[in-house]
Formats: sequence, structure tokens, C-alpha cells
Amino acid sequence: MKSFIKKSASLVLSLALITLLFTTDAFYSEAKSKSNPKKNIVVVLDPGHDTTHLGCHYQNFEEGLANLYIAYYCKQELEKYDGVTVYMTRTGLDCQYGAQPGSASTCLAGRVNFAKSVKANVLVSLHNDYDPDLDTTQNGSKVIVPNPNYKPAICAEGSALGQSILTQLVATGMNINNWKQCPNGTGIVTKDSTSGTYPDGSAKDYYALINQSKSAGFTAVIVEHGFCTNDSDRLNHLSTPEQYAQLGAADAAGIASYYGLKLK
Ligand SMILES: [Zn+2]
Repeated sequence: MKSFIKKSASLVLSLALITLLFTTDAFYSEAKSKSNPKKNIVVVLDPGHDTTHLGCHYQNFEEGLANLYIAYYCKQELEKYDGVTVYMTRTGLDCQYGAQPGSASTCLAGRVNFAKSVKANVLVSLHNDYDPDLDTTQNGSKVIVPNPNYKPAICAEGSALGQSILTQLVATGMNINNWKQCPNGTGIVTKDSTSGTYPDGSAKDYYALINQSKSAGFTAVIVEHGFCTNDSDRLNHLSTPEQYAQLGAADAAGIASYYGLKLK
């Protein structure tokens, strides 16, 4: 019964999303700078997970669907600015780069390759968190940014962009996450691989999306908006299209602020 309710809720959300996608002309359009095309920024939004690589699913929350909503709203907001072209790595519920179960790494590489193919300045991966021990007190936002190794300028860009996004998320009422994987209280965190290295011998970033983007020459950050395992985060920020719109708008405002974009 619980599963039925969960599936029904997901289906309703899916149908609402599909309706939204097909009734919004702007969804596939690109906003390009008319005044100064040389300064155009290419932002690739990456709604984390998909039907075969499920993220957090808890109560009625399905991360792959939530992230798609947030990305869609973020794109819609960003396209109100001049000088930015926005793409999404996925526009439906399936991975567009290999949707077989167990192909998560292929799908991730496909997402980075897509960003590279459109000459991304930045790849912003949109996610939500859960506590693996189901500690329901863990809550709030954090942004995982590139470590300082190999290409320090990419760390600097990611950290400043992450801070800009986090500032906007806090303005929506989110806390800054301050837990075991992000203990420094800033909400800006890096994670090193314990085995992989960059060509200069330094530790790779743990997350494939970040280390592959760094190798390709652009910045990637992973935005964890909130915890689906925390009742306050889930009910107040991760339950309705309006709440996803607020998070997507916050991401967009943070990106626009960091890159100095001006409204059209
Ligand atoms: Zn995730």
C-alpha cells in the first residue's frame, strides 16, 4: 500500500512535469547574448540520477524526479538573463547516455561529454541528500566543489560559485549542512579520491563528474539542496513544484550573481 501510494505520488508528479515540459515553449530554447556574444557563458545543468540510477527515495520523495524539476525551473530562471546559454544533461526521466541498470559510470561520463560537446563553462549538478544511517536530524544544503589539486583555478571558481549558490539557498530558509561529511560549517566541501590521481600525481576529486570535468578543462559543482530524510527539509522544501521552483530560482540567482549576468 505504501509502495502504491509512493508510486501514485510519483506518477502524479511525473505527469505534472511532463505537462509542464510540453506546454512551455521556452524549455528547449537557448538564451543567447545579443549585445556581446563573446562574453556568453555556457551553463550545463545536470539533474542528478534517473530511472535506472536512483538517488534518494524516502517517503514520497524521488530524487531523480525532484532534481529534474529543480533543473527545469533553474533553466527557466537563468534564461531571464542576457549572455547565457543553458543546457540540461537530461530532459526526461531516463539517462540519455545509456539507461541500462549498472551503467551509472557510463551515464556520468556521458553527461560530462555532453557538457564538453556544448563547450560548457560550468557544469552544475543538482542533487538532494540523505543520511545513510537514517539520522533524521541531518539537514540543510551543501555544495561539493573541486579540490585545489591539478588545476587550482577550477577549485577557486567552483568554491566561489558554490558559495554564491549557497547564499541564495539559505535565503529560501535552508540551513547550511554541518555534519560528518561536511564538518567545517561552511557548506562548501571537497572530497578526494583515495586511489585515483591526476597527471601531476595529486589526488583526484572523488566524484567522477568533478574529476572528469576538471580533466576536460571546466568547473563542475554538485549542489545538495536538502535532506529527504529530514522532515523539515522534505516537507518545507522538497514536496511541491512550487518548492522546487524556489530552489531552482535560488540556484539560478547564485549562478547569475557569480557570473555577473544581467537581466534582459
Ligand atoms: Zn543524488
